[in-house]
Amino acid sequence: MSTYTLPETQEEQAGSPVKYVYFFADGKAEGNGTMKNELGGKGAGLAEMTNAGLPVPPGFTIQTEACREYMRSGGKVSPEVNRQTEDGLQHLEQLQRQKLGSGENPLLVSVRSGAKFSMPGMMDTILNLGLNDQSVEALARRSRNPRFAYDSYRRLIQMFGNVVLEIPKSAFDEVFDAKKKHKKTKLDTDLDAKALKEIIGEYKKVVKKHTKRDFPQDPHEQLIMARDAVFRSWQNERAKHYRRINNIDDMLGTAVNVQAMVFGNLGETSGTGVGFTRNPAIGTKEFYGEFLMNAQGEDVVAGIRTPVPILELQKVMPEVYKQLREITTRLEKHYRDMQDFEFTIQDGKLYMLQTRNGKRTGLAAVRVAIQMVEEGLITKEEAIFRIDPSQVVDFLVARLDEKDVRPEDLLTAKGLPASPGAVVGQIVFTADDAVEMVGHGTEKNPVILVRGETTPEDIHGMEVAIGILTSRGGMTSHAAVVTRGMGKCCVAGAGEISVDERANEMRAQGQVFKKGDWITLDGTTGRVLRGKRKLLPPDPENLAKLDKFMSWAEPFRKIGVRANADIPRDAIQARAFGAEGIGLCRTEHMFFAQDRIPLMRAMILADNEKDRRAALKKLLPEQRRDFVGLFEAMDGLPVTIRLLDPPLHEFLPKREKLMVDLGALPYADAKRKKALVSEYSEYGAKGSGDLKKLLSDLLHRVEDLHEFNPMLGHRGCRLGITYPEITEMQARAIFEAAVDAEKKGVKTHVEVMIPLVATVKEMENQGAIVRRVADEVFKEKGKTVHYLVGTMIELPRAALVADEIAKEAEFFSFGTNDLTQTTFGFSRDDINKFLPIYLDEGILKQDPFQVIDRDGVGELVRIGIERGRKTRPHLKVGICGEHGGDPSSVEFCHAVGMDYVACSPFRVLTARLAAAQAGASDKLKTEGGRTK
Ligand code: ADP
Ligand code: MG
Ligand code: MG
Repeated sequence: MSTYTLPETQEEQAGSPVKYVYFFADGKAEGNGTMKNELGGKGAGLAEMTNAGLPVPPGFTIQTEACREYMRSGGKVSPEVNRQTEDGLQHLEQLQRQKLGSGENPLLVSVRSGAKFSMPGMMDTILNLGLNDQSVEALARRSRNPRFAYDSYRRLIQMFGNVVLEIPKSAFDEVFDAKKKHKKTKLDTDLDAKALKEIIGEYKKVVKKHTKRDFPQDPHEQLIMARDAVFRSWQNERAKHYRRINNIDDMLGTAVNVQAMVFGNLGETSGTGVGFTRNPAIGTKEFYGEFLMNAQGEDVVAGIRTPVPILELQKVMPEVYKQLREITTRLEKHYRDMQDFEFTIQDGKLYMLQTRNGKRTGLAAVRVAIQMVEEGLITKEEAIFRIDPSQVVDFLVARLDEKDVRPEDLLTAKGLPASPGAVVGQIVFTADDAVEMVGHGTEKNPVILVRGETTPEDIHGMEVAIGILTSRGGMTSHAAVVTRGMGKCCVAGAGEISVDERANEMRAQGQVFKKGDWITLDGTTGRVLRGKRKLLPPDPENLAKLDKFMSWAEPFRKIGVRANADIPRDAIQARAFGAEGIGLCRTEHMFFAQDRIPLMRAMILADNEKDRRAALKKLLPEQRRDFVGLFEAMDGLPVTIRLLDPPLHEFLPKREKLMVDLGALPYADAKRKKALVSEYSEYGAKGSGDLKKLLSDLLHRVEDLHEFNPMLGHRGCRLGITYPEITEMQARAIFEAAVDAEKKGVKTHVEVMIPLVATVKEMENQGAIVRRVADEVFKEKGKTVHYLVGTMIELPRAALVADEIAKEAEFFSFGTNDLTQTTFGFSRDDINKFLPIYLDEGILKQDPFQVIDRDGVGELVRIGIERGRKTRPHLKVGICGEHGGDPSSVEFCHAVGMDYVACSPFRVLTARLAAAQAGASDKLKTEGGRTK
């Protein structure tokens, strides 16, 4: 969703004041459905329904500019807003032949918030406003239904008390529940007039106690207070949080709708309900919803009584049902999208209270879009925009069966939904245990790796586990990033769960969980549950629908989509999702494999070139094999291979650990020594005799390699320049593999990528080595393959001197993770210490590591492309950071003219759709029918 910024103040036309209030009544509204900016979604919908002649209770909308004014002035509205509000009210009173809260036939209204985008984080609606000690009696007399009148009054005090006077809900609930208990009833409908009257008395005491004044009896005062409370609610924490995660502009403000009440709580011929024109969960074409007789407003969703499926209405009130079907079908045709509606029946007469485009899952979005195209309601081009690209993952993963979710099984609902999908498995606390417990047979045991947080050392465990749970770390933590890459379910940062890795146990909800205990993870919502809950698989029928849908979108796509994949298995997966190449193969990931890491370590520990070359020689065949596999998997498609990038100490034990082990060595018994020998065997430990020398040598080397800012340290091309033999070995492995693959009939397009280049000289240096080795290999093997040598642009300097670098580099790939780190000077791994506050304070709108910062980082990207292509007009340009799978970042990459984006395999579909939408909106010059 994009953000819209409105001008600070609305232009005043010469002389005439701003129109703050828009009336709607009897088939005619001053506003209409297109005016969401001014009237909010709800107000625009009410206006549109009124204009369409639907039965809508009359009222008026106070437009969003009044809210912005309220914010700007620190909590005041201009006299003009008050004047127009009073005018609107008078107009409504005349029309209804009633007076707000007075006389024998008092007017009652609802006061409803409603911003441009529907925001569940905002204030609740106030119903029955205008009731006071007098008007409640009048209402009782007139309706000849005292129970109804007192019920309405107690609801007003409760809602007004909570929403406007900010008295905790519980204060009222206590009174209400005590009364029900006293009267021995379960249902609120069983309370009679007398009981409700008593409740009103006690509610008033609650108000007095909390606010030190009486419940306001003046209806006009009630109205003004409620209106201003709606304005204030725009700024409450829940609303701010919601806007942030949905990228909605804080300056939009909300409108306020004041609308004559209709009553669903008038008795057994009255009721209220909500519904959808199609099923929003799975997208089937069915009338879907619920209602309650003798109920008001939110009763249906509040879970006070169990609502009845809407199809039952057909039996209870066939005429009303028929009318409701007619109206909602018409609304759907009119808006050309699935509608989410609210209605109330007063004494057998139907009223419509709201309609909007319904929120839906990815599954439903695709199905509904296809149905609507088939029904001729929308075009294929419009259909493309009816699904949010990030929702396509819904198609690929298992889901938790909500029917099997019981509150008592919930260990936490507050973990971060780091990587979607749901899994059931047995817990383990170390990567090694994961490998062991999974087993080697064809029937693998499902295990869930539970850690405080994960590190690169855990990779082998993460590989075999079906899901990962961590108690610390955020959405960009190691666990989150890696699992998203693998398309593996992950709940991260589940703070309510404490993990004791030493004791091999986890505590949650006062219970201790041991290795082997079963739990269920839901990475789509961040929930963790006890035991084996039921899962629902991705449905092949749905996948067929997705294919059909994608076939409409794809022709609009201008830029390519590649995957980031390091091993053949991921490459094959990515290809199945439609990846058109590999944008980033991180060669170091190949070295983290269990059988490679000792070789890698031997290479790093070598303190002279000769030893290093010897170790590299052993690594060469392993690397070559990896590359052959990759080339085969991507037969015919380009594969970009990045040379070694991370600081070497990532492969070695931690300095502190070595110091402790070395310090404790003199006191170690035989058993402990044996354990140490096995632990350090990868570094060459053979017996306890050589432990001391080994540990102190290791410590020396680790201290040699120790850096204060490893991310800005000895890494990237700096490694290859200081240890050219590493570059040589990798280049050799690549070209030998390419030639071997070609000999087997595989078509290769090799792209060798030099990381972390800041100057053209660096590029020159590394490029020369790569080209020299290529020539050597081609001569030895008697065969040549086509290849390119290019660079990652991931330092601001590289973007600025891109014209120079392009003289040597044949392609660019923007490494926007590092480019974001170095542009902001933020460490990605430590940003969580301050990011939440930055977001709260509005200093940043989004996590720049998730959504590309267009103004800064994006500007460097733009400059880099422009300057690079000045030197080399057909320079191939892509992106390979995490951003490559984020829809809004993909749109940006399209706009700046990249050739492709690259992302993790499970985001390939998302990126394809995002890219198609970007292409389509260029072509169609429209935002389509985007639902939001
Ligand atoms: P939300 O945005 O939270 O859905 P609404 O403003 O739509 O809040 O109102 C909450 C509930 O009150 C809904 O069920 C709605 O239908 C009902 N409601 C709102 N205004 C009226 C009214 N004038 N008469 C009867 N019911 C109303
Ligand atoms: Mg509503
Ligand atoms: Mg990088």
